[in-house]
Amino acid sequence: MSLMIPFDNSYARLPNAFFARQAPVPVRAPQMIAFNEDLARLLQITPGDVQEMAEAFAGNTIPEGAEPLAQLYSGHQFGHYNPQLGDGRAVLLGETVGTDGVRRDIQLKGSGPTPFSRQGDGRAWLGPVLREFVVSEAMHALGIPTTRALAAVETGENVLREGPMPGAVLTRVAQSHLRVGTFQVFAARGQLDSLRRLTEYAIARHYPDADGPMGLLRAVRDGQARLIAGWMSVGFIHGVMNTDNCSIAGETIDYGPCAFMDGYHPNTVFSSIDRMGRYAYSNQPEIAVWNVAQLATSLIQQMEDKEAAVEEATEIVHAMPDLLQENWLARFRAKIGLTTEETGDLEMISGLLTRMAQNQADFTNTFRALGGDRARDQFTDPEAFDGWAEGWQARLAREATPQEVMAAANPAFIPRNHRVEQMIEAAVQGDYAPFYRLNAVLSQPYSDWPDQVDLTRPPSESEVVHATFCG
Ligand code: AMP
Ligand code: MG
Ligand code: MG
Repeated sequence: MSLMIPFDNSYARLPNAFFARQAPVPVRAPQMIAFNEDLARLLQITPGDVQEMAEAFAGNTIPEGAEPLAQLYSGHQFGHYNPQLGDGRAVLLGETVGTDGVRRDIQLKGSGPTPFSRQGDGRAWLGPVLREFVVSEAMHALGIPTTRALAAVETGENVLREGPMPGAVLTRVAQSHLRVGTFQVFAARGQLDSLRRLTEYAIARHYPDADGPMGLLRAVRDGQARLIAGWMSVGFIHGVMNTDNCSIAGETIDYGPCAFMDGYHPNTVFSSIDRMGRYAYSNQPEIAVWNVAQLATSLIQQMEDKEAAVEEATEIVHAMPDLLQENWLARFRAKIGLTTEETGDLEMISGLLTRMAQNQADFTNTFRALGGDRARDQFTDPEAFDGWAEGWQARLAREATPQEVMAAANPAFIPRNHRVEQMIEAAVQGDYAPFYRLNAVLSQPYSDWPDQVDLTRPPSESEVVHATFCG
């Protein structure tokens, strides 16, 4: 059988200012690590034999119909505007329309230098490739919008990081790679024709019902509010919420230094480059508002009546904190078993979180255990939990099926950092068993998997991961 990808490209039809045509740079000895068959089916891809796929997903051969290109964008990195970023180590092969009617990008990441690489080598090493594969697929299974992983390939070449590391290429799938930064680059340069063209493209592709630039702004805002609430509900810290990593389609994108919390604390930061804690767990909603405000600023540039546009955009952005709160409440109500809304719910959820932070309670395991009778064991002072649970039990009495609601809202399994690190260490030694195991279990994170309970265990002192890196 021969690999067949039914490409139907739209980005390559846009003006030349939007991208640089760039073929992936071949590697020495590609070897398949993983191929996501479920996702391939959704994308209407016919798989080929293993070596043929390794060659294609390493970029050594270009599948028929692909039109490889590197996308232009800019963005604010840690609050500072960088006028030109762009795909420095990725190429978009093209798009397919899935069995669900949704158009998706197929992108190689780590596929060699592009005109946007600056000092970078255009490559990725095995660690971040496997991390993104596991974590993005876990995110999907958790029910949170995300880019996905179609394939991972070893290149047979080393890349130089702290030392020589095995190189790899990830095939990433996204509803699109349009970011806030894609709008910023044209707005900042005053290229209004391109900005208008991009706005039309984004509306047609993602939000066909949106009415003009302000309609698009509203839709992106709503998507980001939903997304961030999803992250908060599973203890996810993105780590690098720069505007170039803020997706117009509302998906989680760029799994660099991301991490899931073990013990709950709102100020948790893992990223080694986030020294000020700008992207700490509890700052994420505020940062999302800031990112949407940057989109607003860019979109406004193309409006005829600037004054009216500023007024409307301001109103749209100012409504976002309330939307975040609504989405957050919906997620966390479910996590404590509530489907109805009562005043006092917010205080009840906050009360639990405060006690969790004071008692080093594991975020995932505490919520999962709420459905049983062992949640108190997660607290250094179990009576702190009992004090909270009294009011909660009274509230639960007015709910029909709280157990089912909690079981569906509280995963048993998340990709814990120490497991991800152990998985990477094993893979570097040539042992992919932990990688396959994590993928299998995390594909059903709300199931109990009785023979995999060790994956629910928080890290021992020596296993704790203190910092994560961009790779
Ligand atoms: P990120 O922090 O992953 O969002 O990336 C920020 C920018 O750095 C993007 O323009 C990337 O394409 C670029 N970049 C990251 N790593 C590399 C690399 N190894 N080689 C070239 N460009 C890179
Ligand atoms: Mg990025
Ligand atoms: Mg990155």
